[in-house]
Amino acid sequence: MRISIGSDHSGVELKSLLVRVLSGSHTVLDRGPSERASCDYPDYAIAVAKDVAAGDADFGILICRSGIGMSMAANRFQNVRAAICPTTDAAVVSRQHNGANVLCIGADVVSAEYAVEIAETFISTPVDGDARHVRRRWKLERSQRLSDCSGLMKSDPEVYAAIEAQVRQEDAEINLIASENTSSRACREAAGSVLMNKYAEGYPGKRWYSGCLPSDAAEELARNRACRLFGAEHANVQPHCGSSANMAVYFATLNPGDSIMALSLDQGGHLSHGSPVNFSGKIYRIIPYTVDRKTEMLDYDAIERQALETRPKILLTGASAYPRKIDFRRVREICDRAGCIMMVDMAHIAGLVAGGVHESPVPYADFVTTTTHKTLGGPRGGMVLCKEKWAKALDSAVFPGMQGGPLENIIAAKAVCFGEWMRPEKKEYARQIVANCAVLCKTVMDRGYRIVSGGTDNHLFLVDVKAGGMTGKDAAAALDAAGVIVNKNAIPFDTESPFRTSGIRVGTASVTTRGMKEPEMIKIGTWIADVLDNIADTAVQARVKHEAAELVAKFPVP
Ligand SMILES: *Cc1c(COP(=O)(O)O)cnc(C)c1O
Repeated sequence: MRISIGSDHSGVELKSLLVRVLSGSHTVLDRGPSERASCDYPDYAIAVAKDVAAGDADFGILICRSGIGMSMAANRFQNVRAAICPTTDAAVVSRQHNGANVLCIGADVVSAEYAVEIAETFISTPVDGDARHVRRRWKLERSQRLSDCSGLMKSDPEVYAAIEAQVRQEDAEINLIASENTSSRACREAAGSVLMNKYAEGYPGKRWYSGCLPSDAAEELARNRACRLFGAEHANVQPHCGSSANMAVYFATLNPGDSIMALSLDQGGHLSHGSPVNFSGKIYRIIPYTVDRKTEMLDYDAIERQALETRPKILLTGASAYPRKIDFRRVREICDRAGCIMMVDMAHIAGLVAGGVHESPVPYADFVTTTTHKTLGGPRGGMVLCKEKWAKALDSAVFPGMQGGPLENIIAAKAVCFGEWMRPEKKEYARQIVANCAVLCKTVMDRGYRIVSGGTDNHLFLVDVKAGGMTGKDAAAALDAAGVIVNKNAIPFDTESPFRTSGIRVGTASVTTRGMKEPEMIKIGTWIADVLDNIADTAVQARVKHEAAELVAKFPVP
C-alpha cells in the first residue's frame, strides 16, 4: 500500500515511529513536519488529503493532539473520508462501514504502541461490500450535490433555493428532453472554478492580458483533446453556445446577404440555421430545404438538385429534431458538385459521434459546429472544428470578431468533458443511448402512435400526437403532470402553430446517464402511452407519477 502521513508539532514523534514501522511493508510518503517547531495542522492535513484525493496514496494518516482538527481539514477534500479512531474497534468499523481512507489519531489520546496497532488494523481491514453499507456510503458522497453549494445557504439563500430546487427536480423527474443531459460532477467543478476570474482575450500564447498561463493551460487541453477526440485539424473552444458557434462560421466565411441552404426550423432545423426571427435569417439569404414529404427523411437527390439550382455559399446539415442518421459522405459529394462550403451542426449528435455510433462529419466537412451540453453531456457551451485552411478565419471571427473574453472556466469544463469521452466506457454509454432510444420508440409505436419517419437511428424520436387527436402542447403538459418531461415539437409539414404543434420530441441521453437500460425504457414507453391514451385523466397521471418516482429513486443522478 501507499500511505501518506503527516502531523502537526504535537505528533512528530508518533509520526516518526509510524513511518519506521509501516515502511517495513508499505510505501510511505512522509509529508512532514520533520521537527517539533510550532506549525499549522491544516498545511499537513491538506498535503495528505491531496495525496488521497488524487489517488497517489491508498491511505492517509494524520496526527495532532486530538485528531479533530486534522479530520476536519482532510474531510473538506472530495473522495477523502477521514475518521478519528481512538480504538482498534473504531478503526475496523470506520473501514468496514464508512470506507474511511484517512486515519486521524490523537497523540494525547492513545499510547504510541496502541497507535501502531490502530494503524495496522485500519490498513488491513477491507471495506464491507454489503448492500446497506454501499448505499450509505453512496449517500455520503452524493450529499455533495447540495453540500457543494452549501455556502450559499447563508450567503445567498434565495439563489441557494433555486439551485436546491433544480437538484430536487433532477432527482424526481424522468428527463426525456432530447437536447439535455446530466453533467458530471467533474465538469461542474471546473465550470465553477476560479478560472472564471480571468480575462484571457486572444488565444493561448497570444493574449491581450498578463497572467494568462493557467487559462492557456486549460484552453490548450480543451483544444488538443477536441482535436484528438474528433480527429479534427483545428478546434476553437471559445464560442459561448451553439448559436454563437454557428455565427462564428458564418462570420468566417460569408458577407451579409450571402446564401445559406439549411433545413428549416419547422422541419427539424435550428433557429440559428436561418430562422427569420434569428440573426442568421436577418443577415443572410436563407434557402430552406425540407425532408421528403413521404419518408420524412432527408432526400439527398432533392437536396442536390436544389443546391445545383441555387448555388448557396454554405450547405448546412445537422438538426435539432431529426431522428435519422445523416449521410455526410453524400453531403460532401453534393457540396463538391454545387461548389458549397460544407458545414455540419452536430450539436445534438456530438456524443454519438464521439462514441462512434454515428458516422463522423469531421473528415468530410469544412466546418463542424457543436454544443458541448447535449449528448456530449459537458458544460453549456459551443465549439467549432474546422480544416486547417479555415483556422485563421475562424479564430478571428470568434475573437475579436464577435466575442471578447472567453469563459475559461467553461473551457476547462469542456476539456474535462472531452477527457471523459476518451475513456472506453463512454463508447458503451453512446451505444446504450441509441439502444434505449430504439426500445423506447418501439414501445410507444407498438401502442399505436405514429412515429415521424417510422422510427429512429439516434438518441431522439418524434411522436405525431395529432393522429390521436391531441396537440403537442397538451401531450407535453399531461406528461409533465405525470413526471415525464418531454417537449412539444413541430413535425415536418406541421399544420398546427409552432406554439401548439402536432408532436412531442423524446430523447434518451439523460436517462442513459442515470444508468437506465432497456427494461426501464419499456416501462417509460408504457407510461407515455398510458398518459396519452387518457390525456385528460389526472388519475392516470398521478399513478404514473408515483411509479416514475419509484423508478428514478433507483437511478441516482450523478
Ligand atoms: C441546440 C442547438 C444549437 C445551439 O444551441 P445554444 O442553445 O445556442 O447553445 C445549435 N444547433 C443545433 C442543431 C442545436 O440543436
